[in-house]
Amino acid sequence: SSPSCSVVIVGAGISGIAAAKELAKSGIEDMVILEASDRIGGRIRKEDFGGLTVEMGAGWIQGVGGRESNPVWELANRSGLRTCFSDYSNARYNIYDQSGNKYPSRLAADSYNKAVKSAIQELRNQEAKLHGVSTVPSPESPPSPKTPIELAIDFILHDFEMAEVEPISTYTDFGEREFLVADERGYEFLLFKMAESFLFTLEGKIVDARLQLNKVVRELQYSRDGVTVKTEDGCTYNANYVVLSVSVGVLQSDLICFRPQLPKWKTEAIMKCDVIVYTKIFLQFPWKFWPCGPGSEFFLYAHERRGYYTFWQHMENAYPGSNVLVVTLTNEESKRVEAQSDKETLREAMGVLRDMFGLEVPTADRILVPRWWNNRFQRGSYSNYPIFATHQDFVHIKAPVGPIFFTGEHTNERFNGYVHGGYLSGLETSKALLEEMKKGQKESSLVEAQT
Ligand code: FAD
Repeated sequence: SSPSCSVVIVGAGISGIAAAKELAKSGIEDMVILEASDRIGGRIRKEDFGGLTVEMGAGWIQGVGGRESNPVWELANRSGLRTCFSDYSNARYNIYDQSGNKYPSRLAADSYNKAVKSAIQELRNQEAKLHGVSTVPSPESPPSPKTPIELAIDFILHDFEMAEVEPISTYTDFGEREFLVADERGYEFLLFKMAESFLFTLEGKIVDARLQLNKVVRELQYSRDGVTVKTEDGCTYNANYVVLSVSVGVLQSDLICFRPQLPKWKTEAIMKCDVIVYTKIFLQFPWKFWPCGPGSEFFLYAHERRGYYTFWQHMENAYPGSNVLVVTLTNEESKRVEAQSDKETLREAMGVLRDMFGLEVPTADRILVPRWWNNRFQRGSYSNYPIFATHQDFVHIKAPVGPIFFTGEHTNERFNGYVHGGYLSGLETSKALLEEMKKGQKESSLVEAQT
């Protein structure tokens, strides 16, 4: 017979682990966590790279130093995670053209301010259109960016969510500072610490049978009485409730079959949400050939193709002497690079570096290209709601369907797309589930009393 428990949690990323911990704290001990991959952490994932620990997924704790405290910053401090202050805003003054000349900072600053203004204008136009404000003649759309420097700035403004354009709750609530996690144990150490508080561990490893790795959930059959969960390896689990923490990209794919199908209001909300692909490519060199020192951590490459190896970071602040550069690609460029060989990607990146720093630049000894888009347990990096998404869409995306409770970064209205969004969503979903369980108990004791 198949094992039976109160709650099955699907996914052991930060939202799933946070939800499980919260349930355990409230005395729900008979749960099973089913994780498709061979590890906990999900999109928080370290990788060994030439003797260094690098973060393929989340790298920063974003939103620090404000009026409220970021819960992930608190977790990081409690577990002694090593972090390093980052100042992205320098990037706009370190822009290189294809001949390796740096744009004068005056010109860069002017282009930047112009781009911010036109981005704000564009946003206002879109909002006006959305709300059907037709009485005021809507101003002309600002001209779209054309020159390499305009394209580079447009890329960092839109693909890196620069807070100048639109207030972002993460920064307004928690503060504008950002810290890069630079710890050998990885960002994922936070999850391990959380898991350790309610799962059995031995010599730094989780050995609790309630955590089951390599369990790919393929089917959720549900009714008023509970859920039957089927995994790819042919196992079946019965539970009163399921907490489903898979990404919105996975929900949009056909990995999990729902029986009966999810209601229309749910699938519509799921399909409305966009998925961003964000790829950090790591390169290690025999020596350093880029400028170091204050204000140099981030730099941009201006090219006529938008997003073509635009955003660069050196790792000297985090790991001095590591000789590592990181270049970030997004969306179409990410997908393009995921589909080609790493050798080809290395060739392209070297071409860009030689444009910026000269032909004598040494070829990297090592390259790491994460593939979040082609990972069937991720299908992208994080959620992004279009401007026309409404509060109601969030209500729908997180609303339970019968005994299935939804959680994960994409269900958090204020902080979707962030680690703290995932963490807070896990807490919120388990609270909602505990409420539901209490109600259920009351009802069944009522039935007992009546019969
Ligand atoms: P996940 O971590 O995706 O957890 C879901 C889990 O479900 C995964 O472990 C997955 O393997 C599992 N799963 C999927 N399908 C199944 C199935 N069928 N059966 C069983 N298990 C399944 N956030 C920041 O705050 N700062 C950053 O700097 C930052 N940078 C990022 C950079 C990248 C490249 C990426 C990818 C993300 C970044 N984020 C960042 C976002 C952050 O990582 C996520 O918001 C957060 O980790 C999501 O947690 P989650 O629990 O919602 O989802």
